[in-house]
Amino acid sequence: MSKVRHFAKKSSLNYEQLRTFVYSKETLDVQNKITQELRKWGVSCSQSLDNKQIEKYRKRSVINFLNSFNIVQSYKDMSSDEDVTVMLICLLALFDPSASILIAVSSIAFRKVIKFMGTRKHLHYCDAAFSGEIIGAFCLTEIGHGSNIKLLQTTATYDNINDEFVINTPTFEAAKCWSENLGILATHIILYARLITPDGEEHGLHGFIVSIRNAKTLLPHPGITISNIGEKLALNGSDHGFLVFNNYRIPHEGLLNKFADVTKEGVYSMHKDEHQQLFTSFAILVTQRISLISIYSGYSLPITLSLRYAAKSLGNQSYQYRLIPYVAMGYVGIMFAKKLREMEGRYIDYQNDSENVKSFLFGIEMLMVTSASKWLYTTLSRHYSSDCFEASQKHAYLQSTY
Ligand SMILES: Cc1cc2nc3c(=O)[nH]c(=O)nc-3n(C[C@H](O)[C@H](O)[C@H](O)COP(=O)(O)OP(=O)(O)OC[C@H]3O[C@@H](n4cnc5c(N)ncnc54)[C@H](O)[C@@H]3O)c2cc1C
Repeated sequence: MSKVRHFAKKSSLNYEQLRTFVYSKETLDVQNKITQELRKWGVSCSQSLDNKQIEKYRKRSVINFLNSFNIVQSYKDMSSDEDVTVMLICLLALFDPSASILIAVSSIAFRKVIKFMGTRKHLHYCDAAFSGEIIGAFCLTEIGHGSNIKLLQTTATYDNINDEFVINTPTFEAAKCWSENLGILATHIILYARLITPDGEEHGLHGFIVSIRNAKTLLPHPGITISNIGEKLALNGSDHGFLVFNNYRIPHEGLLNKFADVTKEGVYSMHKDEHQQLFTSFAILVTQRISLISIYSGYSLPITLSLRYAAKSLGNQSYQYRLIPYVAMGYVGIMFAKKLREMEGRYIDYQNDSENVKSFLFGIEMLMVTSASKWLYTTLSRHYSSDCFEASQKHAYLQSTY
C-alpha cells in the first residue's frame, strides 16, 4: 500500500463523504469520466517542454483544445453543457492551462456575451461555438487602453446606405491586443467599439459580433491585419493576438442589440440610460470573473502534491501547519465559487430588468464581490503555489519522488 493511502486510511475524516458533500455525486461522476478521458490523451502535468519550443507548446494545446469539444459533447447529457465545460476547464487547467484558457474563452466567455447582450438572431453563434464549428475571442483591450475602458478608440460607424457598420482602428494605440484565441484560431470575435450614427454622433461603447477569418482556411478577411503577439513568460500554448481594422464592413445584425439598437435609417435608440447601458455592457466581466474564481479557487495541484509528499516523507508538524490552511482555503474557495455560480443566473436575469432598483443594487454588489474575490483568489493561488513549492524543498515536484 502506498504511504499516501496508508495515511488516508488512518484519517478520521471520510474523504469520500467530504468530496460528495463538496461536489455532489453527479458532479464527481462526470469529473471522473473527464479525467479518465484526459489521461487517455496522454497529457500529464509532468510533461514539460523547452520554453523556446513555442510551436510545439501551441500545437499540443490546440490539439487538446480541439479534442475537448468531443468530451463536452459526450457528457453534456449528464449535466448542463455549461457545467460540463466548466468542469473540463478546471480539470484541464491541471494538465494544460493554455488549452484550458482556449476553451474558457471560446466556449464560455464568447457564448455568455452573446446570450447576455445579443438577441434571438445571434443565438446560432452560441450553438456553433459550443460544437466547435466556429471559435470565439473576446476583444476589449487595446494596446493603449486596458483597465480604462472609457478611452477605447475602435469605431463602428453605421452606413445607412449599405446597411452595414464600418469598423476602423483609428490609431496604433487602438489596435486590439492580448485577446485569447485571436492570433491564429478565432473565426469570430466579440468586439467592443464606439458606435457612430450617420449624423456623426457618437453613442459610446457597444458590443458587436464580427467574423474575422474564413472558418475553413483560417485566413483573415481583407481589411483585417492580425497576428499572435509572440513569446510570453508563461502560457505559451495559448493564442493571444492583436488585430487592426481598416474600413472593415460587417452586416447590421452584427450589433448585439439587446440594450441599444440602430434602425435601418440610422436612428439610435437605447433601452437604458447611458450609465446603465455601460454598466450592463460590462456586466459580462462579472460572469468572466466568476469563471476565473472557479478555476483559481479550486486550483489544488500544488497543495495535493505537497500534502502527498508530506505524507510520504515527513512527520514534520511545522510542515503540516504550513500546508493545512491552504487545504481549508481550497475547500472554502470551491464552495464559494459554487455559490457565485448559483447567483450568476439570478444576476443575469436581474441585469435584463435593471429598471428595478433592487436588481441594480444586486448588480453593483456582484460587481464588487467578484472584483475583490477575483483579485483575492488569483493572488492567493499564486502565493500558495510558491509556498507549497518551497515548503517541500521542491522535492514534491519531482517525478522521481513518486
Ligand atoms: C493572460 C492574459 C489574457 C488576456 N486576455 C484578454 C482577452 O481575452 N481579451 C481582452 O480584451 N483582454 C485580455 N487581456 C488584457 C487584460 O484585460 C488587460 O491586461 C487588463 O485589462 C489590464 O489592462 P493593461 O494591461 O492595459 O493595464 P493598465 O490598465 O494600463 O494597468 C496597469 C497598472 O495600472 C493599474 N491601474 C490602472 N488603472 C488604474 C486606476 N484608475 N487607478 C489605480 N490603478 C490603476 C492597474 O491595476 C495595473 O497595475 C489579457 C491579459 C492577459 C495578461
